[in-house]
Amino acid sequence: MRPALKAGLRPLWRDRDTLQVGVDPRRAAALTGLGKAAAIVSLLDGSRDSAEVVRSAAAYGIAPEAANRMLGLLASAGVLDDFPADLHRTLPDYLRARLAPELACAALAYDHGDGGARVIARRRAAFVRVYGAGRVGACTATFLAASGIAWVSCRDTQTAAPGDIAPAGLEAADVGTGRAAGVARAIWRVAPEVRTADDATRVPDLAVLAARPDPVEVAELMRNRVPHLAIRADEAIGVVGPLVEPGRSACLRCVDLSKAARDRAWPVILAQAGCAPAPGVCPPACDTVLAAATAALAAAQALAFLDRAGAQPPVTANGTLEVVLPDWQWRRRSWPPHAACTCGATGAVTGPGWQKRSSTDGE
Ligand SMILES: [Zn+2]
Repeated sequence: MRPALKAGLRPLWRDRDTLQVGVDPRRAAALTGLGKAAAIVSLLDGSRDSAEVVRSAAAYGIAPEAANRMLGLLASAGVLDDFPADLHRTLPDYLRARLAPELACAALAYDHGDGGARVIARRRAAFVRVYGAGRVGACTATFLAASGIAWVSCRDTQTAAPGDIAPAGLEAADVGTGRAAGVARAIWRVAPEVRTADDATRVPDLAVLAARPDPVEVAELMRNRVPHLAIRADEAIGVVGPLVEPGRSACLRCVDLSKAARDRAWPVILAQAGCAPAPGVCPPACDTVLAAATAALAAAQALAFLDRAGAQPPVTANGTLEVVLPDWQWRRRSWPPHAACTCGATGAVTGPGWQKRSSTDGE
């Protein structure tokens, strides 16, 4: 082990004898009565293994017993990580520097004790395919690439229009060119190492459906058991979810069957809505900020799924997160598997994390 203070937490002094690691009380820990052993924190940058820390501490006049006790206290307080030296060795300098905030955030959010190494390693091995390169899809793709996902491809056959321009997506120079290629360029602006070319022979770890779902593509995803996250922002409403694990959580048809049970005309409405309007006839009611907010939450849900390798379901499994402008609060709607659907989710055997949620639901 190469002990290091968690990268996102700073050592601070509450008084002469009390060390506080971190600022916000929801992350910070305070250790008191440390005496001169507190000086050991200056050695905890991950450049030494535990034995070297103890040896170096002796130069400060800190006895080995006191040094080991100090390391034990910091570990018990949850502010010590095993420095991810192996991961650092595999990353080029520029990428290590760019991903430092991702590592620090993962180390605190997941608390694996590895400095975020496991999470970043998963992202560096992941392939996400985004369907749809409008404002929301393009922004989601760049967020995922910047977060360390190694391969982000985009499928879209449309030509970029002025309304597609977004701060984290397509830019003015992309207008009149293919939107999918514009997304690749947007990704390279923030993450030049990311692979963007699509490969139809490869099954992605996650598909993000940012356009009206094509029934043929959805059927293929279900057949190949590809997890997919549906997102949309239209009619001044942002919707993230459901995240579908085929056969394990409610699918898009489950949701439509539930909606049809509440509104008999829903299938008719859905069929008409599936036909894209002529360009300029009905612009999407999705302003810049709604697009960015929806894309950010979509990327967060995608990462919540990929970072945990599907072991723990994100809140968008069997549900959606929705904001209806001008409201500011995202609310969860529950969409359990539908008994009439043949996707198999109704009778799925799932772990405790996949049990139905109710306490956080918005309805
Ligand atoms: Zn279903």
